[in-house]
Amino acid sequence: MKKLPKLTIKKEVQKQKLVTVIGTNYIEQIVPGLLEKSFDIYQKKDFSKKNFQVSVHENTYSTSAIVLAVLGIEAYRNRIYYLEKKKVSKSVSSDISTIFTNKDNNFPKQDFEAILTEVFVIRDVIVHNHIYELEVVSDDNWDMISHKQKLLEGYGDDRKYKNFVNSRVRKTINLGLGVQPGKIGFEDLFEVLIIFDLFIGIANKLLQSNYVPFRFMKKLNGQWEDSLSKYLAYFYNQIPNKKYKFSLKKHLLVVKGKFEKFLPDCCDYFLNSCCTKCKEFGFHQPNNITKCDTCGFEIRLLP
Ligand SMILES: [Zn+2]
Repeated sequence: MKKLPKLTIKKEVQKQKLVTVIGTNYIEQIVPGLLEKSFDIYQKKDFSKKNFQVSVHENTYSTSAIVLAVLGIEAYRNRIYYLEKKKVSKSVSSDISTIFTNKDNNFPKQDFEAILTEVFVIRDVIVHNHIYELEVVSDDNWDMISHKQKLLEGYGDDRKYKNFVNSRVRKTINLGLGVQPGKIGFEDLFEVLIIFDLFIGIANKLLQSNYVPFRFMKKLNGQWEDSLSKYLAYFYNQIPNKKYKFSLKKHLLVVKGKFEKFLPDCCDYFLNSCCTKCKEFGFHQPNNITKCDTCGFEIRLLP
């Protein structure tokens, strides 16, 4: 009998190389939900009243979202440095600004390092739970008349806190982010996300496209929105606190002046999505609406 040839099945082994960068998922999956929850409470506030701190709920949603967003920036730094075969340093702000400057000599390294450092200062204040002693004076209605506060010794004595915080108003100097933990709310989170959006934009222009793979997707009023900038514009146009909007704009215009040219022309980022008539932010809105809520100027595509 003829012997049949023995069949051998060659097993193919699949090998995949993975880099573990988990921190970037929080912004895509959790932070937008926290922003919505914090905005829900924030927008119902009576802005004519003085309050020492924001409500516990607004504070909890906002501070956790800030921590997760900043974690994302750090995770991207790690990914970029891995791909560039470089060793990370202790300072995320310095590493990111250095790599951007390596790609473009004209990049304002110190200015970018300064604003990123402020974002890390607010993260530290939350994560290390800065402790203050407070004295709040209220009237019969429990409306605040005045307050005194003291940051306890041992907190805020590092170099970046000292260099980037105005200790009289307890805000960071370039972005005006609050550093009193009980006062951190929607307004601070919103600005941190604009800086995050700027970071993504600059990375997309100066680095290879796979270095910072940020994919945004969130349902807003029943429709999917895939642009973080348009998503932020939706909130920007509804901010009820005029005083905050005024100071936010002041800070953002300075940041825009320095970094707009390092944003890609092709896509929408919050800082370059401005009204062509009056320069107000929040021009490109969800559902393909291109409209300025301040001066009313609108661009409609032909059907
Ligand atoms: Zn306008």
